[in-house]
Amino acid sequence: MLRITELRLPLDHAEDALRPAVVQRLGIADADLLSFSVFRRAWDARKKSAILLIYTVDCELRDEAAVLAAKQGDPHVRLAPDTRYRFVGHAPADFFAQERPRPLVVGFGPCGMFAALLLAQMGLRPIVLERGKEVRQRTKDTWGLWRRGVLDPDSNVQFGEGGAGTFSDGKLWSQISDPRHLTRKVLTEFVKAGAPEEILFVSKPHIGTFRLVSMVEKMRAEIVALGGEIRFGQQVTDVLIEPDGDGGHLRGVTLASGEQLRADHAVFALGHSARDTFTMLHQRGVFMEAKPFSVGFRIEHPQGVIDRARFGPNAGNPILGAADYKLVHHARNGRGVYSFCMCPGGTVVAATSEPERVVTNGMSQYSRAERNANAGIVVGISPQDYRQDGQSEGPVSPLDGMRFQRLWESRAYELGEGGYLAPGQLVGDFLKKQASRGLGNVLPSYKPGVRLTDLAQPGRESLPVYVLDAIREAIPAFDRQIAGFAMRDAVLTGVETRTSSPLRITRNRQYQSLNVRGFYPAGEGAGYAGGIMSAGVDGIEVAEAVARAMLGIPGDT
Ligand code: FAD
Repeated sequence: MLRITELRLPLDHAEDALRPAVVQRLGIADADLLSFSVFRRAWDARKKSAILLIYTVDCELRDEAAVLAAKQGDPHVRLAPDTRYRFVGHAPADFFAQERPRPLVVGFGPCGMFAALLLAQMGLRPIVLERGKEVRQRTKDTWGLWRRGVLDPDSNVQFGEGGAGTFSDGKLWSQISDPRHLTRKVLTEFVKAGAPEEILFVSKPHIGTFRLVSMVEKMRAEIVALGGEIRFGQQVTDVLIEPDGDGGHLRGVTLASGEQLRADHAVFALGHSARDTFTMLHQRGVFMEAKPFSVGFRIEHPQGVIDRARFGPNAGNPILGAADYKLVHHARNGRGVYSFCMCPGGTVVAATSEPERVVTNGMSQYSRAERNANAGIVVGISPQDYRQDGQSEGPVSPLDGMRFQRLWESRAYELGEGGYLAPGQLVGDFLKKQASRGLGNVLPSYKPGVRLTDLAQPGRESLPVYVLDAIREAIPAFDRQIAGFAMRDAVLTGVETRTSSPLRITRNRQYQSLNVRGFYPAGEGAGYAGGIMSAGVDGIEVAEAVARAMLGIPGDT
């Protein structure tokens, strides 16, 4: 199979124009092209009036060797890489015949799901422990917060089957380096579970919330069919660590019910919001360290403004869909400001998991047809910042970032004046440093609602002053890239504090905790992923590490 990259065709090319373009590019007769498939389709919108589609195409040829020889030195015609996934091993059928403890997976978000799926596919029959509820019930509970302002601390946007990514835009791209093509394994499993096939080839695939819900159920069914077990409403509240010379070995976990489960291998895919569990693990001496993350606001514009700025006369073209953006600004105060988790045609959602705190995030459906575009506009902060702004004394503790997040999430709740309303302000007022008194033509989508205020009122700031200053400088700079970005009526809502984990549960080359063997920190909560795709890939790699350890297969990965 040969792969052609950078094959460019106009946005409005005829459906049957691809084959002659391939034939021409390879310099062969039409009959010598046996078949072809699109591996990726991206677009180049630098010239808005002449947007190009850029294809990567895999071709089966009558005489591959001859074409390869003729195209020697052409960087865009190469052998297609083998992207098939290969398991590191399989458990023999009688593996669990003796009293051998089964591997545990704590947390059933994208990382835990892929860890459990891979373990199940390798015959290792994992037991999954998830503190939240199964996805249908969880959906009802999550809507309870959005519609009625009633939070269930164990069943919400962060906790429950499918993890934090379930009520999301379902964006599936990631910038991780992927020499083993593990992202392909993730996409292939998602398609098996009901995701649209196009995610295998569009350059920025997304799924949207509705489909994610049913996909999660199908993946659960496959794990169970392969001998795995999934238990909902089972929060791990303690770990049993048997001390030895240099640290300890995990021997089991305790659940909130008091039940104890024996385990020598457990994947902890907790997500970034498992604050009580982080605290427990810290008390038990599991090594962890503070890490940087980002805080800011959500910003909402009419989607049409973003479409026109990005696609000009081609705005609304169905191939391009609703436009996204990715923006970065280096502020004079030394802070990096960037757009985060942009959701075209979506809504801003209440994403807290703790009572009397307000956290924003964004989601959308597959159609991305809502009126507004939204994105986090966030500023990077370091552990040194929490020492200055948090309330802890002494050296930076791994838990300080969490305390810092809580401080600003509680402030947001106060500024919203209760009922989980989010404090908000029009961009024009934020730039002029004046409180907002009424909405303009952008209606904020956050539910249960937005309370207009001054997000930077001296003495009652919604975020640290250096964050507010950096965002105030960045918005006009972003307007120079996306005309209309600084429009007066655009709405800021806050606060966006859970952009990534505030700590890292550091691991070694075997993917185990630095000081507790058998303990496999994984995914976003452990500081090893950011987003659905990278969490899924991390879950695969950690499952492979567990399989190697359990099956006695040498190697680091
Ligand atoms: P999580 O998904 O957070 O899963 C952790 C799971 O562990 C949870 O289900 C939790 O209930 C469980 N758990 C925690 N503690 C315990 C315990 N003690 N015992 C048992 N279970 C426990 N990313 C993208 O790539 N694209 C997007 O479009 C996108 N949109 C998002 C929109 C929203 C609203 C949110 C909140 C996040 C979004 N993200 C998106 C981020 C993405 O969801 C996360 O990066 C991803 O879910 C991390 O996966 P994870 O498995 O590591 O952790």
